Amino acid sequence: MTEVRVRFPPSPTGYLHIGGARTALLNWLWARKNNGKLILRIEDTDADRSTEESIAGIIDGLTWLGLDWDEGPYFQTEFSDDHQQAAQKLLDSGHAYKCFCTREELEKKREAALAAKEDVRYDGTCRHLTPEQIREKEEMGLPSVIRFKVPQKEGVVSYEDKVLGTIERAYSDIEDFVIVRSNGKPLYLLCNVVDDIRDRITHIIRGQDHMTNTSRQVLLYQALGAPTPVFAHMPLTLDLQKKKISKRSHGEIVSVQFYREKGFLPWALCNFLVLLGWNPGTDQEIFSREELIEAFTLERISKVNSVFNYQKGNAKFFTDPKLIAINEHYLRSMEITELAQLVKKELEAEGLWDEAYEGEKQDWFLATIDLIRDRFHTLKDFTTAGRAYFSDDYEIMAKPLKKNILKHPELKTWLPQLGQRLGELESFTEEEVERVSREMAAELGIKPGILINGMRTVLTGQLAGPSMFAVLVALGRETVVRRLQNIDHLYQD
Ligand code: GLU
Repeated sequence: MTEVRVRFPPSPTGYLHIGGARTALLNWLWARKNNGKLILRIEDTDADRSTEESIAGIIDGLTWLGLDWDEGPYFQTEFSDDHQQAAQKLLDSGHAYKCFCTREELEKKREAALAAKEDVRYDGTCRHLTPEQIREKEEMGLPSVIRFKVPQKEGVVSYEDKVLGTIERAYSDIEDFVIVRSNGKPLYLLCNVVDDIRDRITHIIRGQDHMTNTSRQVLLYQALGAPTPVFAHMPLTLDLQKKKISKRSHGEIVSVQFYREKGFLPWALCNFLVLLGWNPGTDQEIFSREELIEAFTLERISKVNSVFNYQKGNAKFFTDPKLIAINEHYLRSMEITELAQLVKKELEAEGLWDEAYEGEKQDWFLATIDLIRDRFHTLKDFTTAGRAYFSDDYEIMAKPLKKNILKHPELKTWLPQLGQRLGELESFTEEEVERVSREMAAELGIKPGILINGMRTVLTGQLAGPSMFAVLVALGRETVVRRLQNIDHLYQD
């Protein structure tokens, strides 16, 4: 059996878009499923728009996502000889011809055709030039483009699309398209095919937005005498208003880097992206890497456009709530030692890492991140909402401050008193701290919630969190007492 060879060929003109990441992911899945190869090819022929920064960003993004490739990165510009040779081969074999029509002539014909409500396609004027006529024009120094000679016969060019079935387009519907510009530069349409032939690509998995090219590219494969690869065109991703998601309308949430910066887990993003345009045929939504490789098939890529449900979610920024839910799932259920490595990076970046978290405080560290992760949405929460566990320098949120502290001026004396009692406990366990807190509330004739919420606000700065008694134990006696006894500043404005 021939080896499955797929490619991810981004044009390096911007950051890695989540649409691009989805394309890379599906190709990666297909390669891994078939023990095949994924080739990374940077399509940098558009020199004006390609940047080094973009190339680095794409490579960085793929690496972060864990989508490893087997060959490359190849750079399209390094293969311009191949592209030229292919154009020459097409000329020599009579599949292409030089066209000397000027832009003005073409424009005039186009306008006339439009006015007469006729076909606006190139009329084939230069298709039948004799070698003699061509030589004359060249000797006159007239510039020419190279056009592909689309068969002038009844019938269709067809290809099998694994997602959409047989796709046909009548020859009569395709004009003699340009493959090399008058400045000698081959067009993308040709370069892409030549590279795929050289790289022995067996499957082309890409967005439906490329379908306008596919029929013409199939003609090129045939004319170059190469087997046509299998195509699988993926649906587009739209927002709820059915607009294509783009940086212009949706901002940075379309870039992979955004999710990295926001503290998403790379596999959670992959898991979300695969569901944008593919489904397993069951209700399963969470897939480990191995499960997804096993379950993935080209046939189950959807035919219809997928929706990126762009909303303000509970992680407090706009994105698809399903992505946040998937991220929460992994964050809250992953192996704690694996999570510890990720939290370590976050703490290091904030200057909050303590070597002891891998030494004598390791048990504490693992238990604490396990306790607090249950309400967290992203890795960033460990250094924001969870900052009070690792530093005395944390923010008291305005809402709990108002509701749980300022509304109860008596807490100014109650909380330090409670702190003292907690400090005197023989054993600082969940049961004991709970008992003392409830006893004190009973003595004061108030609801325990007033003390508990007050403590939560002072000790963590947050409105909500895990069981407060577990929080007290996690913070430890010394910190709890110190923080509860230093609350005067909260009442000053
Ligand atoms: N360079 C093209 C792009 O970034 C890829 C086209 C293809 O997959 O054939 O859209």
